[in-house]
Amino acid sequence: MSVHTAAAAPSVHAPLPVLGRDVTVPLVTGGEVTYAALDYAASAPALQRVWDDVAAYAPYYGSVHRGAGYLSQLSTDLFENARATVAAFLGCREDDEVVFTRSTTDSLNLLARALPAGCEVFVFETEHHAALLPWRDARVTCLDAPRTPRQAVETLERALAGRDAGAPALVCVTGASNVTGELWPVRELATAAHAHGARIVLDAAQLAPHHPVSVAELDVDWVALSGHKLYAPFGAGVLAGRADWLTGAEPYLAGGGASRSVSRRQDGGVDVEWHAGAARHEAGSPNVVGAYALASACRALTEAGFDTLVARERHLISRVRTGLAEVPEVRVLSLFGDEAPRVGVLSFVVEGWNSSHFAAALSAEYGIGVRDGLFCAHPLVRTLLGSAPRAQGECGAPEAAPGEKSLNAIRVSFGAGTPDEHVDRFVDAVRELVRDGAKWRYRTENGRCVPAV
Ligand code: PLP
Repeated sequence: MSVHTAAAAPSVHAPLPVLGRDVTVPLVTGGEVTYAALDYAASAPALQRVWDDVAAYAPYYGSVHRGAGYLSQLSTDLFENARATVAAFLGCREDDEVVFTRSTTDSLNLLARALPAGCEVFVFETEHHAALLPWRDARVTCLDAPRTPRQAVETLERALAGRDAGAPALVCVTGASNVTGELWPVRELATAAHAHGARIVLDAAQLAPHHPVSVAELDVDWVALSGHKLYAPFGAGVLAGRADWLTGAEPYLAGGGASRSVSRRQDGGVDVEWHAGAARHEAGSPNVVGAYALASACRALTEAGFDTLVARERHLISRVRTGLAEVPEVRVLSLFGDEAPRVGVLSFVVEGWNSSHFAAALSAEYGIGVRDGLFCAHPLVRTLLGSAPRAQGECGAPEAAPGEKSLNAIRVSFGAGTPDEHVDRFVDAVRELVRDGAKWRYRTENGRCVPAV
C-alpha cells in the first residue's frame, strides 16, 4: 500500500503550492485582501503536498513500536522510513543517528544534556536563543559578532587555540541567521573546530528550508532543525549526527520506548537497561504524524530541486532588496554586508518609525504578515541596531526620534511557497507607509501594537 500522494511537477518559476494561499483577511480600512504570509522564518505554511500525504495516511494511523496489528506495523514502518528519508535529505553518514524531537530548541537541549563531563561550549553572540541558551550546565564562551565570514572563522580559531585538544568541546553555529538571513561559513568553521579537537553542531532551522544541507559534506557532527519551518507544521523536529555522545548520555526523557528492560530489585528499587541509538532519547509514544510530515517535506523539496528553489528565492530576495533600497528611510540590517549570500530573511528598521507600529500597519492596512521585535536573538539585534535595552515607547509615537537608535526591527521572510505578488505588495506597502504614514490609529495592548478600534 502506498500512502504518498503523487508529486505534481513544479514549474521552474512557480512557487510550490502551500496551504493558505487563497486565504483572505479583513483590512481595518475596509474590504479584504489575500493574506501575504511573509513570516516564513517563524513558521512556514504547510506544503500542500505535505498536507495531502498526511491526509492520505490519517486513516491508517496506528500506534508505533508497540502494536501487533496491521496499522501499528504500517505506522511503525512509516515512522522508521521517515527517519531514513530525513537521513538521506540531510546527507547523513552511515552510522549517524536521526532522533525525532519536537523542534530545533528541543534538539539542541537534548544535545546539551548529552555533553560529556567537562565539555566546553563555544557559541557566537549572534545565535538564536535556542542555540545560545541550552548549554547552561557547561562552561560557555560567547564569541563576539564577526563582521565577515572570514572573521567568524578567525574568531573561533583564536578562541579554540591553546585549549586542551583532548578535552571535550562543542561549537554551536547557525547555518543561516534568522535575523539577517546571511549564510555562515559552516564548512570552514567545522574544519577549525575539528582542527582543535572540538565537535560542531549546525543549527539548520533557517538553512534547511532554503538550501541543501549535507552533514557529511559540511563535516558537522550534528544538525538540528524544525519541521514547522520546513513546511511540515506537525510538531516534529530532528537532531541528527554522531551516535557516541547520545549513547553515552542518560536518556533525555525516562520512560517507555527508551528502556529495553526494566525489573524490580529485591531491595525495592528499579533496574533499567536503556536502549542505545535514537530510541534512547525518544521515550513515550512518538509523533508519527509529525515525523511522516517532515519526511514528506524532505521528499517534496528534493523533488522540486534545490537548484530551482534557490534560484527562485534569489529572484525574490533581489526584488525585495531593490525595492527597499529605493526607500532611503529603510535600513536593512546586515553583519556581512549587502553582497553577502543569504536566504529569504531580511530585517530592517524605518527611520522615525516604531517597528511594532510599522508591522501592525502592514498587517491591518495591507494584509501582510511580517514580524517585529528582537526575533529571539537579542544580543545580535542589539548589536546590529547599536541600541541598549530600554523601555518600549507607546505605539503610534515614533520609538526612535531622529538620530536615536531603534529598539526593535521588522523582519520579512519568505520561501518556496511565496509568489512574486506577495513581495511586490510588501515593497509597495513599505513605500506607501513611509510616504503617507499610517491611515489608522494604533495603541499598545499587552505590549503589542494594535489598531485603536
Ligand atoms: N534556530 C534558529 C536559527 C531559529 O530561527 C529558530 C526559530 O526561529 C530556532 C533555532 C528555534 O526553532 P524552534 O522554535 O522551532 O525550536
